[in-house]
Amino acid sequence: MQMTFVALTIAGSDSGGGAGIQADLKTFQELGVYGTSALTAVTAQNTLGVHGVYPLKASEVEKQICAVMDDFPVTAIKTGMLFSVDIIRKVVHTLKHYQAQALIIDPVMIAKGGASLLQNEAIQALKEELLPLASIITPNIPEAELLAGMKITTAHDIERAAEILLETGVDAVVMKGGHLDNQDFAEDLFMSSNGRKFKLRSERIHTKDTHGTGCTFSAAITASMAKGKSMEEAVMIAKDYIHVAIKEGLHLGNGHGPTNHWA
Ligand code: PLP
Repeated sequence: MQMTFVALTIAGSDSGGGAGIQADLKTFQELGVYGTSALTAVTAQNTLGVHGVYPLKASEVEKQICAVMDDFPVTAIKTGMLFSVDIIRKVVHTLKHYQAQALIIDPVMIAKGGASLLQNEAIQALKEELLPLASIITPNIPEAELLAGMKITTAHDIERAAEILLETGVDAVVMKGGHLDNQDFAEDLFMSSNGRKFKLRSERIHTKDTHGTGCTFSAAITASMAKGKSMEEAVMIAKDYIHVAIKEGLHLGNGHGPTNHWA
């Protein structure tokens, strides 16, 4: 019988299906991993933006994580939208109990349309309490600026910010360079605490249908790590996956359509 790998996503729901829990579960499925989920918040959302945010109680998030972890052989976990200090603290407390083999943090903060998906006071808790438990964090440039407490404009700044994040105890950082103003390519930087450093470069795709890019990328890393791949391999597979998913983005709705990856 074929081995079934299981991953858990702890994240918010996007009613439009392009980001959050929905993007994570679709990505796990596409990459041959059984997906489980613990919802942190429900959002009323479509391709035009976020119309409402309804967080769950921290104890309700904990109950879901325990229900999954007590029953399924989960080999990798990712976090997405965590919203509040209370939820972050409860997730940290619960994950310490289960000692995740691989923990991928997508530090979701602000949706493309500007809606806040992480309260300001929660940024510090994410950095100081969650990152020390994690294998990989995948910030985009605006998220890295807030977490590292510095402005990022050059390649040198990106490395410096990655070093600051590694000081928290996280094993590796993937700095997503997609937000930098380069017309020809999208370049990310991988840096780990054991001294591995490399760049991942892909041709830039000019499209507005990029909703859910960050969620899908970190979910693809999580799926590969759930299958036992190393951090480096998982990040390279995820880069190829997201490149295709942006290329095949769907022109759905009237705003930013979702990234998409059919088998
Ligand atoms: N909604 C939820 C629940 C998310 O987790 C995310 C992820 O970043 C977003 C919205 C934002 O998606 P995007 O900025 O790609 O539109």
